[in-house]
Amino acid sequence: MTYQIGEVLFSEEQIRKRVSELGREISRKYCGKGLTVIGILRGAAIFMSDIVRAIDPSVNVAMEFMRVSSYGNGTDSSGEVKILQDLENPVKGRNLLVVEDILDSGWTLHRLKEYLLQREPASLEICVLLSKPERRQVEVDVDYCGFVIPDKFVIGYGLDYAEQWRHLPAIHIAKPVEEAPGR
Ligand code: 5GP
Ligand code: MG
Ligand code: MG
Repeated sequence: MTYQIGEVLFSEEQIRKRVSELGREISRKYCGKGLTVIGILRGAAIFMSDIVRAIDPSVNVAMEFMRVSSYGNGTDSSGEVKILQDLENPVKGRNLLVVEDILDSGWTLHRLKEYLLQREPASLEICVLLSKPERRQVEVDVDYCGFVIPDKFVIGYGLDYAEQWRHLPAIHIAKPVEEAPGR
């Protein structure tokens, strides 16, 4: 199965509006406090860069990144999550906000949450751009969610198919292209 860029699910304008709403919510919660925002590479890179800029200067924000793998190049979760790049600084006693592109089976965030809680942060919240509830295998409580979407594979605004199309400014549905028979 291969994919091509399909219809726009959320436009640049829709994303911008929703990101600024989330930024306001986060700002209200952490006003006057410190917050370590942890972006999960690579899918959340673009969302992360927009969400931190939507957080009010009254919040003392630090940025960290982690890279985890759960998928390889396909579109189905393995349930196994590997930490490919860990945090650089200690997070004990800090308020953490994990920023992730999409909550699908739930395994990535479930495991990541367990992993981060072992480090004894003061608090841990999760912000996802997208959530596909129909695909859930394990429940994960999310504190901020951009959009709930149907069970479709999506690309753009950081989300890839085999490392392609992360740079698209809007979120699109990836449209399956049937292989020609006999090839
Ligand atoms: P989970 O562990 O919740 O099943 O999967 C989370 C990861 O799967 C996401 O961080 C993302 O990398 C990938 N993923 C899940 N659904 C999609 C999708 O529709 N499009 C893309 N590009 N990646 C997805
Ligand atoms: Mg991800
Ligand atoms: Mg991916």
